[in-house]
Amino acid sequence: MRKFAVLLIVAGIVLSLPFCSGKKGKTKVIVIGFDGADWDFIEPLIEKGHLPNFKFLRENGAWARLKSMKPTLSAVIWTTISTGQTMEKHGIIDWLYVQRKGIKVPYNNSERRVPAIWEILNEYEKSSAVINWYVSYPPDHIKGIFVSDAIRKVVFMKKNERFKLRDTVYPERYFNMLLKCVPGNYKEILQKMGIPDYIAMARKWGKDPAKLPVIADFKAFIRMEKFVDCVGELVWTRGNYDFFALYYRWPDVVTHFIGMFLPPNLAEKGLEEMQKNHRLEPSLRKELDEKTAELLLPVYSWLDKILGRYISRMDKNTYLIVLSDHGFDFGPRGYNHELPDWMPPPTGILGILGPGVKKGYEIKKASVFDIAPTILYIYGLPLGREMDGKPIAGAFKFSRKISFKKYFRRKFIKKHLRELDNRTLKELRSLGYI
Ligand SMILES: [Zn+2]
Repeated sequence: MRKFAVLLIVAGIVLSLPFCSGKKGKTKVIVIGFDGADWDFIEPLIEKGHLPNFKFLRENGAWARLKSMKPTLSAVIWTTISTGQTMEKHGIIDWLYVQRKGIKVPYNNSERRVPAIWEILNEYEKSSAVINWYVSYPPDHIKGIFVSDAIRKVVFMKKNERFKLRDTVYPERYFNMLLKCVPGNYKEILQKMGIPDYIAMARKWGKDPAKLPVIADFKAFIRMEKFVDCVGELVWTRGNYDFFALYYRWPDVVTHFIGMFLPPNLAEKGLEEMQKNHRLEPSLRKELDEKTAELLLPVYSWLDKILGRYISRMDKNTYLIVLSDHGFDFGPRGYNHELPDWMPPPTGILGILGPGVKKGYEIKKASVFDIAPTILYIYGLPLGREMDGKPIAGAFKFSRKISFKKYFRRKFIKKHLRELDNRTLKELRSLGYI
């Protein structure tokens, strides 16, 4: 009888082998950030048969209209996403702050007071690749590779000056490898990304591109975005990380100006109604969203390809989290994310795929505060005691025991480079943020 039991146990182990190669599989989490992405534009495009990967995400994962916060400043919200804490606690409360002598400088990673998710994971010996996260210069010294958002400014520099930005990457030895990604000319980039020439379009509409916000610097924005995408690819292929986070600014940049290409009578009707009634009739709102979605199709198709790339890279231990910091709503000045007090912050997107994630499940309550706790929950690690969000446990078929721990931001570098700060100020002006 005992022999039989032993045999059964052995058989059990043998049988279960193919399901757990070696020790229990190592959980991996991939986070893809699409600044300003909004379901209101994605949904009509899926309905028309576009965006197969977003469709896959919606049908095979858990998803939510992600509650955002005010002020809807990307720098503030992406830091809330990475820390799970309010801006009062994490310290990045605006685009700029007044340094000594009354000089205004952009916030950077020196001013963040609490640990980001990758610093917490580092305490557990997990390796991370973090690429282009908002307000991430100077880079955090973590196990893995950290490419701060400041690196993208390299696309404006002459070849012999680029070395000045080598400390935008940790470890610095990877910097030269990433320079391969500095993209070629504008037309070639448009073609590779499948993006229309908005500068030429503006001209066709009788506008002077040089005088239009964002479009005036469109070439600069698209070069940076293409560069970041390539850096993501290089970093992905050179390592096997426990945590991989890559941020794209693209949807936000284009949605800021795309409204100018709406049929003029439709846009006017929307503006009039908004000014008169402080709201839009649902049918008009739907029409505006659908027309805008059509205009944004090239942008979302590009994102869809990126999404598809990462979905295909998932193994049975991988979780993929796709999210935005806020969406866009039609307000008194057209589509924007900075809206008057009487309008709520427009919701962003959230999609989660992975083992044990509910399929096609809409999460009713999820906010930008919940992302960092949810990532810790996925790994089965203690949540940060100071975090203001909660794990989105309802998205999963399993439930984990929750414990808490106090985490600190231990050592970090405080540094501002005048040249980087000036370029950031220029960008913020171009976007109309300052
Ligand atoms: Zn944003």
